[in-house]
Amino acid sequence: MNYKKILHGLNNWFVFFLIAAFVVTCCMTLFITVIANTLDLTFTEENISAAAKLTFGNVVLISLLFTVIDAVRRRLMVDRPTKRIVSAGEKITKGDFSVRIEPLYDNYAYESFNSIISCFNKMAEELGSVETLRTDFIANVSHELKTPLSVMQNYGTMLQTPDLPDEKRIEYAKGITDNSRRLASLITNILKLNKLENQQIFPVPEHFDLSEQLCESLLQFEEIWEQKSIDIETEIDDGVYINSDSELLSLVWNNLLSNAFKFTENGGTVSVSLSADDEYATVKISDTGCGISAETGKHIFEKFYQGDTSHAMQGNGLGLALVKRVVDIMQGEITVESEVGKGSTFTVKLKRGETVGMEKAD
Ligand code: ADP
Repeated sequence: MNYKKILHGLNNWFVFFLIAAFVVTCCMTLFITVIANTLDLTFTEENISAAAKLTFGNVVLISLLFTVIDAVRRRLMVDRPTKRIVSAGEKITKGDFSVRIEPLYDNYAYESFNSIISCFNKMAEELGSVETLRTDFIANVSHELKTPLSVMQNYGTMLQTPDLPDEKRIEYAKGITDNSRRLASLITNILKLNKLENQQIFPVPEHFDLSEQLCESLLQFEEIWEQKSIDIETEIDDGVYINSDSELLSLVWNNLLSNAFKFTENGGTVSVSLSADDEYATVKISDTGCGISAETGKHIFEKFYQGDTSHAMQGNGLGLALVKRVVDIMQGEITVESEVGKGSTFTVKLKRGETVGMEKAD
């Protein structure tokens, strides 16, 4: 292998040497011909033989010098950075995504290598974040997947009992449906979050009526607020238009509202308000539920975090992580104020985009 490398290197230098020798010979021949013609000189055999020897020696020396200079240049400016990139690439292949290559001197000669290095570093960073997501995913999701699956298995086994009363059969079948729905929602949320985190979802801004969207989101919970006799208070300014991605924003309202209804006891109150000035639209979703302690409040936007385990079966701890990610992508702000036992208020402040002023909805 080494022997082949040496041959290859020699071959490279030899070709360079021949080219350099050819160029130098041509230049010298031209120089001598022009001098001889201009000065009208005639050469004797002896002159020519002495000059030929000297010229040959010069050609060899100059060409050797060029070859050595080129070899040093290649070693410093091509081989060294290439080796650095190759060795970093090998580390990545072995699974070390923390590797980064130091950029070369800020010099025009290294411009191409520096752009390869910057691409390489970006690639390593992206691969690293995917890897972190994958390991987190395995740790958290395996637990989240196991719970509904084992519940479904139990219900399935119980359904096999002969002569099961209709009432029980329906109860067990409902248990299976509820848990499979929970699994499906978990997987949908994971996929959405994964896409949002890896920037595979690009917001598609459109001009839409935020007031209308909030009312529609709220109405989806009608069945729940009637079931739990929850009072609804709204203070939604009419016709607040915003330039944003409506699909992503509806994800925010649905998650915040679903939490508000989930954590509010029967007979409580959920309030929704929307106000706007020329630049910002502010949405507040409040409830009179169990509230969030200061310690829990520090973690609620983390993936898979569930502060209130009594409602753990109704969620997967991904809702607020999704909400935060969407609000960040929209360059908005989300804050929470809460008092244990009294309730919570989530406030989302969004830029209205190019459109300013209020427009009346039809
Ligand atoms: P989950 O699916 O568990 O609701 P979320 O990410 O939506 O996951 O919320 C994370 C945690 O934040 C919840 O487990 C709960 O402890 C807390 N939380 C969120 N919203 C409220 C709320 N309106 N009232 C009380 N606690 C809340």
